[in-house]
Amino acid sequence: MTIVSDAAAAPDAASAADRLRITEIFLSLQGEARDAGWPTVFVRLTGCPLRCQYCDTAYAFHGGDWWQVDAILAEVARHGVRHVCVTGGEPLAQKRCLGLLRRLCDAGYDVSLETSGAVDIAGVDPRVCRVLDIKTPGSGEAARNLWPNLPLLTARDQVKFVICDRADFDWARAVVAEHRLHEACEVLFSPSAAQLPARELADWIVAEKPPVRFQLQLHKLLWNDEPGR
Ligand code: SF4
Repeated sequence: MTIVSDAAAAPDAASAADRLRITEIFLSLQGEARDAGWPTVFVRLTGCPLRCQYCDTAYAFHGGDWWQVDAILAEVARHGVRHVCVTGGEPLAQKRCLGLLRRLCDAGYDVSLETSGAVDIAGVDPRVCRVLDIKTPGSGEAARNLWPNLPLLTARDQVKFVICDRADFDWARAVVAEHRLHEACEVLFSPSAAQLPARELADWIVAEKPPVRFQLQLHKLLWNDEPGR
């Protein structure tokens, strides 16, 4: 794990416009979505305006350190891998995240963005794979879903539902059908780890055959959600 409080990255007044608050930058395996299994550098931005009841990254709500974008790029490069995932918290809650994503794409990385679905994704560089959550009623944050994001999704993107119970499963199937999400991009259903046995969700998908892909989070299986893994 690399959690850096980097004095060299501390901004002066002139460079404050080019900085982001970062909780951690670390190398691991991508645990989910399209790039699951690839060695990936994670850039975890600090802060999130949501409070999902199952959140596994509450340590990213506060704290962190200010990093210049150049210092972030240098730290990413140090790890020497092609895949970079910008995550949080909610990374888009910091407006300068858009510039970071663009710089990472310009540098030639294969870039993904994990976002809550509660913030406008229109400004995200089109080279980025956007992994957009749709918050179910069981999350406690369904009222935060920004529905105008859905028509912006393309085949590069993915939509993810974390399913807490059968009511969530039925709700999510209805949302997929109503918005024809499976025609825009791949749709992922994951069990909420502490609430729904993975086998149960898998059985529901086999029985009902919604046009979605079952997903388990590799990093939970491998490292039980240690920060920085
Ligand atoms: S959006 Fe993500 S980081 Fe924010 S509270 Fe929900 S699960 Fe946690």
